[in-house]
Amino acid sequence: MSRPVFRFAPSPNGHLHLGHALSALLNVRAANALNGRFLLRLEDIDLARCTPDLEQEMLEDLDWLGVPLEEPMLRQSQAFEHYRKALEHLQDLGLVYAAYLTRAEIRTFVADYESTGRHWPRDPDGAPVYPGDHAVLAEHERKARASSDAPFALRLNMAKALAKIGKSLSWQEGGSEGKALFRSDQKIEAKAADWGDVILARKDTPTSYHLSVVVDDARQGITDILRGQDLYHATSVHRVLQELLELPEPRYRHHRLILGVDGRKLSKSSKDTSLRSLRASGMTHADLRRRLGL
Ligand code: GLU
Repeated sequence: MSRPVFRFAPSPNGHLHLGHALSALLNVRAANALNGRFLLRLEDIDLARCTPDLEQEMLEDLDWLGVPLEEPMLRQSQAFEHYRKALEHLQDLGLVYAAYLTRAEIRTFVADYESTGRHWPRDPDGAPVYPGDHAVLAEHERKARASSDAPFALRLNMAKALAKIGKSLSWQEGGSEGKALFRSDQKIEAKAADWGDVILARKDTPTSYHLSVVVDDARQGITDILRGQDLYHATSVHRVLQELLELPEPRYRHHRLILGVDGRKLSKSSKDTSLRSLRASGMTHADLRRRLGL
């Protein structure tokens, strides 16, 4: 059997925190335990928020963690051409449309809809499912936006995409640490319809997280995607895109999350769990492993 390939794919748009440390260390461990490779990928498509300084600091944090950095690293900001091609493929399949509703318009639509006692569906991240421009804008307004300079997102027509695929999709979920790492996989049914029409690109950015992650996992030959449980449901979208783009299906492993004292997911903006501040306050590797339950 060929060697498994793992990856850690952080975005340098803030400081790494304890959750990233767990993810990076579990990937390195799994790669070692299974005689695999470990690759780092910089997910820096958000050119406004990902800065060279943050990237440098992120690499220092990873170095402190003892994460091996195999060169050259794949940097998404240098791979827009690959995402553009994938997007064009989906456009050629007739599955992509320009969507003009602003966040505020979606919010107002949902509030009006729910004011009558009905419930508008939310995606697995809790955001309202995109209602479609027809539901909100008059015909002349849609035309005016399409022929103007108005911002837009390119969205996947999910219902059409699922109809095109024409079969139910699933993924193989393996264990992420300890003995479970070797456990045989569970088959998980993908429920991409719950996401509605996800964003594939924007007027000024020719890609999105969902699109670039599947393109790059394939480009890097990733066989095992070990990432936080917070991305578990996103896997349904990734399976749809892999199927449409005819990309290989990796195995997935979603790991536990490290929660803050308030019981919530850690965020890059919270200073007290950033690796830099913990290190500055004297945290050692042994302390870190204890805190991560490793
Ligand atoms: N770049 C994503 C993040 O920092 C992770 C992507 C993934 O592991 O699929 O949350």
